[in-house]
Amino acid sequence: MSEFLKVKYSSIAPDVSAVFEQPLLSEVTRLAGRAGRVETGGILVGEYLDGGRSVRITEVTAMPEDSRFGRAWFKRGRKGLDALLRDRWAQGQYYVGEWHSHPGGSAEPSGSDIAAMRKIAGDPLYRCEAPVLLVVGGRPPDSFSISLTVFVSGSPHRLRYGTPS
Ligand SMILES: [Zn+2]
Repeated sequence: MSEFLKVKYSSIAPDVSAVFEQPLLSEVTRLAGRAGRVETGGILVGEYLDGGRSVRITEVTAMPEDSRFGRAWFKRGRKGLDALLRDRWAQGQYYVGEWHSHPGGSAEPSGSDIAAMRKIAGDPLYRCEAPVLLVVGGRPPDSFSISLTVFVSGSPHRLRYGTPS
């Protein structure tokens, strides 16, 4: 048993949830804060439980160095991710989604964020039918908000903190 606080986000219909431990949130806000006024991001690694209805996120990666970004846009690169995912695969951990920051802004996913996730959900390359998007808004690490959205059959479902049990 881990000593870390578990954080859970879920939706009622469909019944989907995402869980992770507190240090993962510290890591994602640290990475977002370090990038300052520009967007940054990476991938989420973890596993699906309960027949795919629950995703446990175990790792957030730092920005691949071939990523491109500005104050209000982010295009994640791929460098290093294939090797990382091969390594995690051997430990039963897989690609489960994406994260990026909205410095000084809302954690609400933009229209282009949703379009990008729909593309990933339908892309056999990712082998991920229900990818998660985590967005960090505000001025992390001191003041921030996060959103989690799971794409089920291509439709975005926003998860709410701590509901239902
Ligand atoms: Zn965005």
